[in-house]
Amino acid sequence: MTEPTFYQPQSNEIALFEGACQHQLPVLIKGPTGCGKTRFVRHMAERLNRPLYTVACHDDLTAADLVGRHLIGPEGTYWQDGPLTRAVREGGICYLDEVVEARKDTTVVLHPLADDRRELALERTGECLQAAPGFMLVVSYNPGYQSLIKGMKPSTRQRFVSLRFDYPEAAVETTIVQRESGCDPDLAQLLVRLANALRNLKDHDLEEAASTRLLIYTAQLIGAGLPTLDACRAALAEPLSDDDATVAALMDVARAVF
Ligand code: ADP
Repeated sequence: MTEPTFYQPQSNEIALFEGACQHQLPVLIKGPTGCGKTRFVRHMAERLNRPLYTVACHDDLTAADLVGRHLIGPEGTYWQDGPLTRAVREGGICYLDEVVEARKDTTVVLHPLADDRRELALERTGECLQAAPGFMLVVSYNPGYQSLIKGMKPSTRQRFVSLRFDYPEAAVETTIVQRESGCDPDLAQLLVRLANALRNLKDHDLEEAASTRLLIYTAQLIGAGLPTLDACRAALAEPLSDDDATVAALMDVARAVF
């Protein structure tokens, strides 16, 4: 058996996920972008040997995109299962990334799957599926950039075991950056120090803080031979802001670290 994709745990999330899985409970993961949510779910699916269906939710995503629809082929119309239906039939994990972005009609299909009924009604075909034993619903969202309208309703939230993710503590994040980018430990350590300095900048209201993902990109550009500050600008400062003054302030911090 091949090793599951590398995942560096931050806390007790593996045990919690396994516990939820054992009791067929759905899981909600909250946390900022680029902090390891998707990697964690992939790692867990491989570890538990379940097929994984990942859906990046967006504001046009409807229940039909998840459940399936009739399509027209050479021999007339036929039914095609959506990713949620496939996971329900096969006993796989369905991971809905940024679930609060999806249209509200998705709630109607998710609720009966997220409680002890574990059922999915395919309105269009008249079927009602009982989820296979291995089926698990996993959703994530980023509480940081959330409007009130897009918040998750308590009736939905209370159906899930919730895990809170954040950027890892410095030693853990250093290991991740080093491992994922192949850079040397000293560079990984400096990049993590820079990220934490940027995360602590109070007077610039950045929409999002520097993510682990951006640190890995920066290390990769440096590894490709780019000057350190050029890499910091392209993979850290510019992705964080469109405002010239803010980018300049972020680069001042980078110059102080390197
Ligand atoms: P999210 O889904 O939270 O937006 P990802 O899971 O896509 O973030 O993480 C972004 C990248 O950061 C991953 O591709 C991986 O390289 C790295 N990463 C973040 N956290 C971890 C971790 N705990 N273990 C291993 N890699 C990680």
